[in-house]
Amino acid sequence: MKPKVLVTRNIPRDGLTELFQKCDVDYHNSNEVMPMKELFSRVKEIDGLLCVAVNASEDLMRHAPRLKVISNYGVGYDRVDVEAATLRKIIVTNTPDVVTEATAELAFGLILAVTRRIGEADRILRSKRHFRWGPMQLLGLELTGKTMGIIGFGRIGQAVARRAKAFGMNVIYYQRTRRDKSVDTSDQCFYRPLETLLKLSDVVSIHVPLTKETYHLIGEAQLSLMKKGAYIINTARGPVLDEEALVRALKSDKLSGAGLDVFEKEPHIHPELLQLNNTVLTPHIGTTTLETRTAMAKMAAQNLIVALEGKRPPNVVNPEVYKLIKN
Ligand code: NAP
Repeated sequence: MKPKVLVTRNIPRDGLTELFQKCDVDYHNSNEVMPMKELFSRVKEIDGLLCVAVNASEDLMRHAPRLKVISNYGVGYDRVDVEAATLRKIIVTNTPDVVTEATAELAFGLILAVTRRIGEADRILRSKRHFRWGPMQLLGLELTGKTMGIIGFGRIGQAVARRAKAFGMNVIYYQRTRRDKSVDTSDQCFYRPLETLLKLSDVVSIHVPLTKETYHLIGEAQLSLMKKGAYIINTARGPVLDEEALVRALKSDKLSGAGLDVFEKEPHIHPELLQLNNTVLTPHIGTTTLETRTAMAKMAAQNLIVALEGKRPPNVVNPEVYKLIKN
């Protein structure tokens, strides 16, 4: 008998061909989030969950006694209760690498949009419907020669760094693990402690996962260390950046602008962020290219298939689960 799996939202079908061949798939072919009650009833008999933007909570796991694998559609798996999954011997996987370039492109799009005031300029043109060139109008920040501070120097952080270097920027980064100094020298991206990075950077871009440790990693105290007139970009997860503190920093002109793809209480957006002219806001579209979304679907499906075949998938986020599975 084929294993039963649930796909919780519509994702590119091209990525799911093998999943449909090898599994008995319950595909929620809709852009709408499944109501919780319906979700709990549809997980009752499943062996695998392809989890697209739903909370894989302990409660959900309790409703799915046969569940063996949660394949998260995305690299960030903060909506999966990994601890609870591990205790229940459930393998959790994610989709790293395939999301890197699209997310870095979006981060850089936000950097350019906010420093060169592209959103603001677009709004002026649309509202006035005429164009008058002004020598002091819409002055922004030139990136060449400026310092980019990257918080979280993993796959996406480094992809943003490559783009920043192509724009002639100096790159510094912060993460918990220090790389060997020779690596910093060879790619000309230099480690700085978080406080130093905040003081030195003209543009700060956040690329850490959301964990207990990174919740409000950037709050009032950290924002106050930033250069006056600097910019902050967040394409990681909303709760890493304290939005109330950010609004205050933007309103007081401490910061010149913010580019945000993620928000503290998604899908709710802080109303003052919407009113401010020096913000560029996008609705969590870091990975929304057809190429990336299809690659994510393929990878998430592969993770599910391989794990359900009893083999070890490549992108396990809770490898400690295998010790429990053996026993
Ligand atoms: P990654 O390769 O695992 O990189 C994460 C980086 O964060 C590493 O450098 C890591 O280094 C650092 N880090 C982790 N915990 C930290 C802490 N407590 N303090 C300081 N640094 C810390 O992940 P990635 O593939 O680049 O993805 C990063 C995040 O981007 C994802 O988790 C996801 O939430 C987000 N994302 C968003 C979108 C979107 O649509 N907007 C798309 C894709 C990804 P150390 O472990 O050495 O500290």
